[in-house]
Amino acid sequence: MVKRQNIAIIGGGVSSVSILSHMVHNAGFNDEITIDIYDTERMMGRGPAYQEDSRHLLINVPTEEMSLGNGHPSYREWLESNSHEPVTYTSRYLFGEYMRELMTSVAKVHDNIHLHHTLADDIQYDSENGRFTLHSGDEVKIYDHLFLTIGQLNYLDPYQLKASEGYIYDPYPLDEGLSAVDDDRIGIVGSGLSAIDCIRYLLIERGVPEVHAFSRSGDMPSVRGTPTDVELSHFTYEELESLKVNDEISLESIKELFKKELAHQGVDEALLDRRTGNTLADLRFDVSHLDEIGRLQYVIISVNPIFSDVYQYLSRSDKVEFLDKYHPLIEENHSPMPLEVAEDLIKWAEAGQLHIVDGTRSIEKEDEFIVSTEEEEQYFIRTLINATGPEKDVRQDDTGIIGALLNHQIIAPSEFGGILVDQKRHVISPKTGTIENMFVLGSLTTGADYLSNSVQLLNRNAQKIVDQFYNQLK
Ligand SMILES: Cc1cc2nc3c(=O)[nH]c(=O)nc-3n(C[C@H](O)[C@H](O)[C@H](O)COP(=O)(O)OP(=O)(O)OC[C@H]3O[C@@H](n4cnc5c(N)ncnc54)[C@H](O)[C@@H]3O)c2cc1C
Repeated sequence: MVKRQNIAIIGGGVSSVSILSHMVHNAGFNDEITIDIYDTERMMGRGPAYQEDSRHLLINVPTEEMSLGNGHPSYREWLESNSHEPVTYTSRYLFGEYMRELMTSVAKVHDNIHLHHTLADDIQYDSENGRFTLHSGDEVKIYDHLFLTIGQLNYLDPYQLKASEGYIYDPYPLDEGLSAVDDDRIGIVGSGLSAIDCIRYLLIERGVPEVHAFSRSGDMPSVRGTPTDVELSHFTYEELESLKVNDEISLESIKELFKKELAHQGVDEALLDRRTGNTLADLRFDVSHLDEIGRLQYVIISVNPIFSDVYQYLSRSDKVEFLDKYHPLIEENHSPMPLEVAEDLIKWAEAGQLHIVDGTRSIEKEDEFIVSTEEEEQYFIRTLINATGPEKDVRQDDTGIIGALLNHQIIAPSEFGGILVDQKRHVISPKTGTIENMFVLGSLTTGADYLSNSVQLLNRNAQKIVDQFYNQLK
């Protein structure tokens, strides 16, 4: 007789929807498996990135490359069958609609799948019987397996301004967080994709006269070049496997392989280091070299899943060196912004509506925010918006479920961000060792999975985790 298995998925974003979809489409799925999913009503089936918000917040990946799960229509098919124009870059909100529909349609046809519109407040683990006790509001339930897919940690607050009046610590959803911003001295801290969201929202929807974007480097993501099909010839699993010695692959040999691949694909490796430090000039360069940049980006995007898998074979010192020297170059080209977004930024900068200020040294709050730069310039800002991205160190985010899991010593921080997991993404507890019935997916595995937070990679890794789960059940 098949034993009943109670499963909880904590979080309702991309990772959760992907796991759910792969779960129900696996031949091992049956009526004895019960799946409960926890998240708030607002986030269920969407997660923060794809929540109900301004339609001007765009996906940065072409529609063709954004699909989820297994056995469902692709995103493009879904757009067409729901009378939406399948444009290259849709709003993130629309992708959220697609995801949510996918999740609710799966839950509707299976009596053994339940959506709980509440957060998990606490989780305890009994190593004697291998079960989890989950507290959510007044409810307490026991589970045999747990999937932790809670997304990013809280926002950073690099200048410790959280309590200051006029400071918007977490601007999302922008339709709410920035709806009252009506100022002529607005600053945004950060220059990544969230900062670009805020710039677009303020200039397009709020019609503010000008915006300052402050950061240390001023570097923005690159501009997505022309999509190119890439068939890897050198940077392959087989080649990398042959480089493995005593469960390690040296960074030097990975670098050589990558350079060989770039040369084979006709990519000038100097493009990797093309940044001049002048943000506007860098954006213009990308816009006028779309084919060359596209080839570089699509080699990086193609190599990414493979590198993510072999990342765990780097020695500690190689990982440190990689993160310090090479990660910034890869990151710039890995999640590029759509061309239309770059063109808007250039237009606004030229018109004096957008000021990109790098070399930010300090920000202090007196009557106003005083932003000082390395060049000894000062800016006086009345409304300051935090777009610096999430915390990476779980110890700095010891509230909510992370705090509870740390407290029960179920999870432990990884030196490279997120929490300790093994190669199959089981949690490694400092108290009881590897917990084989607790899987993690999403940015909490950042120390083990390199740059794996895109929809494509989360979906691929969800499939692996689910296969592993069913193998363990046998
Ligand atoms: C602004 C932004 C734009 C992005 N744009 C793109 C893009 O265009 N293309 C792309 O590929 N990727 C993009 N990404 C990357 C994006 O993070 C991932 O695609 C994806 O959203 C991560 O999914 P996730 O399920 O791991 O985490 P999330 O989507 O963050 O979902 C985690 C969920 O867990 C819930 N949760 C947290 N704590 C608890 C608890 N205690 N109990 C229950 N639930 C809990 C949260 O409410 C949340 O809904 C973007 C990210 C951001 C932040």
